[in-house]
Amino acid sequence: MPEVPRILITGAAGFLGSHLCDRFFKEGYHVIGMDNLITGDLANIAHLFKESRFEFYHHDVSKFVFVPGPLDFILHFASPASPADYLRMPIQTLKVSSLGTHNLLGLAKVKKARILVASTSEVYGDPLEHPQKESYWGHVNAVGPRGVYDEAKRFMESLTMAYHNFHGLETRIARIFNTYGPRMRLDDGRALPAFIGQALRGEPLTVFGDGSQTRSFCYVDDLIEGIFRLLHSDYVGPVNLGNPEEISILEFAREIRELTGGSSEIVFKPLPTDDPKQRRPDISLARQILGWEPRISRQDGLRKTYEFYKRIMDSASEASHR
Ligand code: UDP
Repeated sequence: MPEVPRILITGAAGFLGSHLCDRFFKEGYHVIGMDNLITGDLANIAHLFKESRFEFYHHDVSKFVFVPGPLDFILHFASPASPADYLRMPIQTLKVSSLGTHNLLGLAKVKKARILVASTSEVYGDPLEHPQKESYWGHVNAVGPRGVYDEAKRFMESLTMAYHNFHGLETRIARIFNTYGPRMRLDDGRALPAFIGQALRGEPLTVFGDGSQTRSFCYVDDLIEGIFRLLHSDYVGPVNLGNPEEISILEFAREIRELTGGSSEIVFKPLPTDDPKQRRPDISLARQILGWEPRISRQDGLRKTYEFYKRIMDSASEASHR
C-alpha cells in the first residue's frame, strides 16, 4: 500500500457518501469521490474541492468506471435511498446496485482493492423476525414498489459474495438501518426531514398509516464509525449497522414536534404499499467483531440535526428577503 491510501467513494455527494468523504479525508486518505448527482448535492462536499487529497468525478457508476492510478479501497454508496426517490427512479435504482456493483467489483479486481458495499435493512423487507439478525433471510415483495431497491441490494450482496468466493476479492457488506443527520435532503421524502421541514414551516406533520409502524434511527456519526471499523475488519459476511432503539413513527413525529417547539398538528395519510411494520437491528455481531455500538442518543442526534436544518432554512429565508 502506498503511504497515503487511496479510496474511491461512490455516492460521494449524497448524505452518507459525503460524511464518508469527510471521515476518510480526516484520516489522511486520498479520497476520490464519484456521483452522477441525480439525488446528491455538490454542496455536501464543496468544502473538500480545495484539497489536494480530494478529487471528484461526475459519473454514473452503472456505466463502465475508469479511475486512473492505484486504489486501495472502494466504498459503493451510490443509490437513491429514500422510498420517494426510488419510486421516481426505479430503473436507475435497479441499475446502480446491480450493473454499478458489477462495475465496481470489476474495478476492485483489477486494482486489487478491498471493497465495501452499502446494503440495507430493506433486504429483510417487511420482516417476520424481530429484531432482525444477519441470519434472517427476509420477506421481500420483488414486484412491489420497494422491490426495485430491495432486490437490487439483495443482488448486490449476492454478486459481492460471488466475487469474494470465486475471485478471492476482499469484500465487506454493511446492512445499514435507518440513519439520520445533517445533509439529508429536506425534500427527500423520508420521515425525519419531512417532519422537521413541516414543523419548521408550521405545516401539519404527515404521519403515514396510523403511525404504529416502528423504525430504529441511528445518528450518522455512529454509522460512519461502524463503516470505518467494518472496512478495516476481516469479516466477510453481512453485518447489521444501526441503532437498536426502536420507536413508533407517531411517537417520533411527536418527539420532533416537541424539539422544534412547534404546535403543528399531526395528520394521517395513507400508508405506502409494503411499508415495513417494524424494524430494529440485532447488532450483537457488530458488537462482537467490531467492538461497535451507537453512542449518540436520539435526543442528542435529533438536536444536532434540527440545528443544521434550522441554520439552512434561516439562511435561505434571509437570502430571499435580501
Ligand atoms: N413516514 C411518515 N411520514 C412521512 C414520511 C415517512 O409517516 O412524511 C413513515 C413511512 O411510512 C415509514 C417511516 O415513516 O413507515 C419511515 O419512512 P422513511 O421514508 O424515513 O424510511 P423507510 O424506513 O420506510 O425506508
